[in-house]
Amino acid sequence: LPVVALVGRPNVGKSTLFNVLTSSRDALVADRPGVTRDRQYGVCRNVDRPYVVVDTGGLTDSRDFLARATVKQAVSAIDEAQLVLFIVDAKEGLLVDDHDVLQQIRRSGKPCILVLNKIDASTEAAAGAEFAALGMSAVLAVSAAHKRGIDALQAEIRSRLPEPEGSDQDAGIQDLKKHPGIRLAIIGRPNVGKSTLVNRLLGEDRVIASEVPGTTRDAIAIPLHRDGQDWVLIDTAGVRRKSKVEDVVEKFSVIKTLQTLDQCDVAILMLDAQEGVTEQDASVLGYALDAGRALVIALNKWDGLSPYQRERSQSELDRRLDFVPWAERITISAKHGSGLGELTDAAIAAYRSANTEIPSSELTRGLEAALTAYQPPLVGGRAPKMRYAHLGGTKPPRIVIHGSRLNHVADSYVRYLENFFRKRYKMVGTPVAIELRNGD
Ligand code: GDP
Repeated sequence: LPVVALVGRPNVGKSTLFNVLTSSRDALVADRPGVTRDRQYGVCRNVDRPYVVVDTGGLTDSRDFLARATVKQAVSAIDEAQLVLFIVDAKEGLLVDDHDVLQQIRRSGKPCILVLNKIDASTEAAAGAEFAALGMSAVLAVSAAHKRGIDALQAEIRSRLPEPEGSDQDAGIQDLKKHPGIRLAIIGRPNVGKSTLVNRLLGEDRVIASEVPGTTRDAIAIPLHRDGQDWVLIDTAGVRRKSKVEDVVEKFSVIKTLQTLDQCDVAILMLDAQEGVTEQDASVLGYALDAGRALVIALNKWDGLSPYQRERSQSELDRRLDFVPWAERITISAKHGSGLGELTDAAIAAYRSANTEIPSSELTRGLEAALTAYQPPLVGGRAPKMRYAHLGGTKPPRIVIHGSRLNHVADSYVRYLENFFRKRYKMVGTPVAIELRNGD
């Protein structure tokens, strides 16, 4: 995934634009307590070429310590980006701070689009003239709050992003595609034991053919054969490079996590059983859910716990992760190699579930069985009609239910249907989306 950074002084509307670009029509998980999300990072998915969006916060005020940290973060986000959107407030015109921000962008040498936000009939003409003085080749007027000008902006972004891969990397992708197997990513915050697990998986099996460059700069793919199953381990350099000797702490990068998630079939989210579920764990989990990936949760460092601590750790996990009951939790010790068979078995089951194909005739029978067992509650005194179902997609499975008066069906009923289908088709380890479609 290429990276687009939103840059500008505070209050120009970066967060609003961020939300417009990253909210997707078919979000699988609404905001729920338990999923904390860093609102700085998101993925724009409803375009032909998805990209990561980073909201850099305000760039200018460097007087106090906190602000300086933010500026540093923003500068590093620009570093990682392939394209910068420089956002200004068309109503307020150009301020000194805008010039400061622009200077930072120019220093980075990154391609840039000037986005005039808060445009309406009264500001459009005047703003154009004022900002023309900046001499930027790409200028677009939008209203993030009213979602105006967004299509044109998307087209401009598309045309300015570098082409997917250079010619030499094309060869890499071709090679990668030759390797069969489930694409597996191991994600988690620093120090939970990702490198230890990767080394363990690779070390036990010496059939590593080659390391193949993946589709992003820093991700590599390692083919692996284990217990009769082919895998391709999608790994970021940050995890792999670490050797036992160095034992350096990985620099956590949300962008790398998003890119790894984009390339995998199944993600293993690693947690440290000795430390429990932290905010950062919850935020990584949120990204995995957003990506719609099949998911297995590995509770690592199980070896170091007493029976009492184990019990406590399990119940904390159940409580904190009760909104992803479908994700299997496997206790492992990456260090000693225990639980790895269960872990890969769970990953295989999750992969199969995510790719389940169900004929429409069978899904419709399933729907009828669900309706017979439990009718949908009335909406405004009338019964919603659910007529038939089909599978709208896989990875994750999306079950589309057709009928009428489906607009206000209770969430609890949709959850009932989801669970019913999960049980009937033995789907584990994957999100399942239910879409209600009126009118046909
Ligand atoms: P990463 O940052 O997620 O890649 O984590 P590392 O693989 O570097 O592990 C961080 C620390 O946890 C290291 O000191 C490991 O030796 C230790 N560690 C990893 N797995 C286990 C485990 O299963 N049990 C115990 N007790 N320690 C572990």
